[in-house]
Amino acid sequence: MNKDTIEGMNFPPNILQIFTLIGEFADKQNVKACVVGGFVRDMLLQKANYDIDIVIEGDAIPFAQSLSKELNTDCHVFDKFHTAKICINGLDVDFASARKEIYEYVGALPTVTLNATAKDDLFRRDFTINALALALNGENRFQIIDYFNGLDDLKNGLIRVMHEKSFEDDPTRLYRAVRFAHRFNFRMEPTTWQLYKQAIKAKVALRISIKRVAAELTKIFQEKHPGKIINQLKRAKLLSHFPCNIELRDLNYDCLKLKEAPDVATVYWICFLSFLQFNIRNSIIANMGLPHSMRLKIDDGLDALKKIPKQLLDLHCEDHIRLFDLLEKRCPEALAALVSFSLNKENINKVVYYTKHLMGIKPEITGKDLIDEGIEAGPHIRTILEYITELKLDGRCLTKQEELEIGKSIYKNIRS
Ligand code: ATP
Repeated sequence: MNKDTIEGMNFPPNILQIFTLIGEFADKQNVKACVVGGFVRDMLLQKANYDIDIVIEGDAIPFAQSLSKELNTDCHVFDKFHTAKICINGLDVDFASARKEIYEYVGALPTVTLNATAKDDLFRRDFTINALALALNGENRFQIIDYFNGLDDLKNGLIRVMHEKSFEDDPTRLYRAVRFAHRFNFRMEPTTWQLYKQAIKAKVALRISIKRVAAELTKIFQEKHPGKIINQLKRAKLLSHFPCNIELRDLNYDCLKLKEAPDVATVYWICFLSFLQFNIRNSIIANMGLPHSMRLKIDDGLDALKKIPKQLLDLHCEDHIRLFDLLEKRCPEALAALVSFSLNKENINKVVYYTKHLMGIKPEITGKDLIDEGIEAGPHIRTILEYITELKLDGRCLTKQEELEIGKSIYKNIRS
């Protein structure tokens, strides 16, 4: 047990309150509670992290349920994972029972046993820097629990697996090792590096599903410089689930000044997947298990990368209506992918012109306003709204009343 404590740490007061509250409740319930995982690592690295994961030595679900009763808040139980979530002082806190994991074969999901100790729970983790805990109650309250020398590794900038079968048990750790090494500018310690190379040679990554690799890549795409991580994975042949020669650069779409920030991971996915040959792309995407909303944006982005560069060729910025028609339906992620990866300078300027001057132009009035004015419902409502949009794209400034008048006069013309 290490004697480091959280004294002197720069904690936001609400987090300290949350920890005190959970610790006191754990004392009352006679169970051991500790914070685990990325929060503890980042706390020691003085980096902000609001993902609070609590491990309870005992059953976490009744613990979280009675705590939520005492705090008069909701408790969401996830039966499948045997975990629970409560919102305390505005922050989500996840509770899990300490567990032990056994891997039956390489790449399998582990068999989980509950009724384990905090030490068992920490031992099943990926790297020593992620196997640190912060005790919330008992005699070592607010001390760092360091069974596996994670503190030293954190100080020395080392990624170290917990045991020599780690990469075989769960090859997603190969991707995680590279990701954490890049994020913190750490390196794999020599034995871990050897095990990493052996696992790559044995092609253990091929034994995990593309879904699990995709989940790791989504996390990589949320890092600062995914391009470098992807290059290292490519060199290590860890991208074999995606048979193509990927060259990923960092995103650069600040010039668009988008009001709605694109989801960065989705933009990287669009670019990444655009390297795949068309005939295999759809079946690969279908097996990746990405969330439906992300999938729709990826489809839009891939379609935009294919069509928009050609369509922009003979188009001038002054042709507001055509430029608007071309880009209006594209999601922000597709626009970001276009300017980051696909277009030349001249065409980038056209997209920038669109986002700065034309994007979001629409009538003040709605179809309902027109119907309230006595205009019958029907397809002409859309025609009227499109006409008003075109007037505005041509630079006309219209008040809501003027728009209504225009709408009524178009309707009159249509009927006569
Ligand atoms: P991030 O800052 O990227 O969220 P994190 O360490 O919180 O990093 P998560 O993927 O959220 O990462 O995982 C939470 C914790 O669960 C990790 O700190 C680690 O202890 C454990 N963990 C996650 N994936 C694995 C894995 N494949 N094998 C073992 N432990 C894992």
